[in-house]
Amino acid sequence: MTRPYNFSAGPAAMPEEVLELAAAEMLDWHGSGMGVMEMSHRGSEFISIYEQAASDFRELLNIPQEFKILFMQGGGLGENAIVPLNLSKGGCVDFVLSGSWGQKSYKEAAKYAKPLIAASSEEAGFTFFPNPSTWSLNDSSSYVHLCTNETIHGVECHTLPDLRSMGSKAPLVIDFSSHVLSRSVDWSRVGAAFAGAQKNIGPAGLTLVVVREALIDQALDICPSAFNYKLVAGADSMYNTPPTYGIYIAGLTFQWLKRQVENGKTGLEAIELRNKTKSELLYNFLDSSSFYENKVDHLSRSRMNIPFFLKDESRNEAFLKGAKEQGLLQLKGHKSVGGMRASIYNAMPLKGVQVLIEYLREFERAHS
Ligand code: PMP
Repeated sequence: MTRPYNFSAGPAAMPEEVLELAAAEMLDWHGSGMGVMEMSHRGSEFISIYEQAASDFRELLNIPQEFKILFMQGGGLGENAIVPLNLSKGGCVDFVLSGSWGQKSYKEAAKYAKPLIAASSEEAGFTFFPNPSTWSLNDSSSYVHLCTNETIHGVECHTLPDLRSMGSKAPLVIDFSSHVLSRSVDWSRVGAAFAGAQKNIGPAGLTLVVVREALIDQALDICPSAFNYKLVAGADSMYNTPPTYGIYIAGLTFQWLKRQVENGKTGLEAIELRNKTKSELLYNFLDSSSFYENKVDHLSRSRMNIPFFLKDESRNEAFLKGAKEQGLLQLKGHKSVGGMRASIYNAMPLKGVQVLIEYLREFERAHS
């Protein structure tokens, strides 16, 4: 069966191999007589699924042992509350804003902490990631929060800041929801990272948190127990019933990622290389055209989410209709930004980007 190419920003396209395997195992996982959804989270079958998923995630992202990996629920917006509940100590927190998701995190943190804006590109329409040399960090902040890939504005932080060299002692917290597992992470610069699963990992709801063990024992008293990092870590993510099916699909995705090969590289290195190739191809085409444009500064362009505009916006409807007819789905931009957006996560093959570019070229030819 040939499926259309799905450019949704999330929930997003999954690797076909993962969906096929999940379908094949739906009624009977590995001869257990049960589907994964029907298993106790404390039974040996599910525990083995969970342990494999956690160890593959650690291996893929090269996460050092001093970090705990938590499989939680609540998504990115849940973490906007859960992070300050666990890490702010009710004090000041610095935010660097480069798009809507950082802005949402900032607003939510005000319920539990005293958020400050260290830098923002809002006045420039969130078209770049503020250079660390421009940040004004507060000496007493409990942490510094960044969204390292702004899904709506298509702005990515390509090098994590070294807060120590900037004179800050605060840990760095990153929302890496929309580029998790698309590239490597320099964990020496990170205190905690969180990601909703619905872009590069699996079903919405499952949320991954990677947090330094040294930071997890300072939750506010009002922090709900099921969201308390220390309690969740102490119970190996089984403090409450975890999102078992989501963890299973995530595990299949991790295995798929480990199997990827590109130019002699494997796993995460392979997917990072492929993501560079895919995004460069699309940006180069957009830059070479006078019919379309992407407004993001070249140094901050996201490899995952590529917003673009038709210079003549009266053609938007026709563009989307034609795209759908060609099997190119969900290209409409976020309502707050308008235009189009191509989300090209790990599961989008190079071929999908090539077919999109063919369509862009043909539409331009037919309408100029
Ligand atoms: N952060 C980022 C970077 C996101 O892209 C999203 C969702 N698109 C969120 C947070 C919010 O995630 P959720 O809807 O799962 O709460």
